[in-house]
Amino acid sequence: MPELPEVQTVLSTLEHMIAHKTIESVEILSPDVVQCDSDEFSRRLHQRSFVSFKRRGKYLLFEMEDVTLVSHLRMEGKYFVEKQSDPIRKHTHVIFHLNDGTDLRYHDVRRFGRMELIEKSEDYRDFHGLGPEPFSDEFNALYAWNKSRTMKRSLKMTLLDQSFVAGIGNIYADEICFRSKLRPETLVSKISKKRWQLIVENSRTVLSEAIAHGGSTIRSYTSSLGVTGLFQLQIDVYGREGEPCHVCGSTIKKVRHGQRGTHFCPVCQRRL
Ligand SMILES: [Zn+2]
Repeated sequence: MPELPEVQTVLSTLEHMIAHKTIESVEILSPDVVQCDSDEFSRRLHQRSFVSFKRRGKYLLFEMEDVTLVSHLRMEGKYFVEKQSDPIRKHTHVIFHLNDGTDLRYHDVRRFGRMELIEKSEDYRDFHGLGPEPFSDEFNALYAWNKSRTMKRSLKMTLLDQSFVAGIGNIYADEICFRSKLRPETLVSKISKKRWQLIVENSRTVLSEAIAHGGSTIRSYTSSLGVTGLFQLQIDVYGREGEPCHVCGSTIKKVRHGQRGTHFCPVCQRRL
């Protein structure tokens, strides 16, 4: 599932490709992807332009003149920018015909992704009950400590909770725990304010490194490539079970935790 860095990369790539282009019409091939009436969706986007590109958690926000198109990619959603004469791929669900002869096409093999229209808002602070953005001032050691000290929950599950902090998923939660030298199952009620300071800083570092890596790949995009933003190459633990730890050489382990595959170094990371 795309997490904050991938969503940010998709957003930056699309901004580069479709900023200020106008939607001439919308073709909805799978009405269940769109969370409102299809005719209403098409009507409200008719002759609107992609004015600005924002992200909140894992949501893409395309701001038009008077409305915002919200898109969540869920497991496998991706966008293609293609010529209108190009053949339409299987699993294409929504097509935005643009005024320069190209299409923005939404493709999703599992069809879990969703789109909706909302009123244009300045800060999206209360958007869908999401917690603070990891890079915002609101996400700090005092906030995290206050919110978590009475929780009976693990560090990993807390990082995955979108109402605690927005945008972190399974991959980066494991990476943040590794960087913070804590086992994913560590109870958050045992984490001190000082240690939260490190976790907050590590969250920002891990996410911004991933964004920088994704960002560097944008240049290689062409309009015929799918925009998925999956560039998790700078990874220490996720998906590396059985391989040596980059820091100590011990074997990376994988367990199930909260029904999620969870990766850690048994030597570098400890419980409190
Ligand atoms: Zn290690």
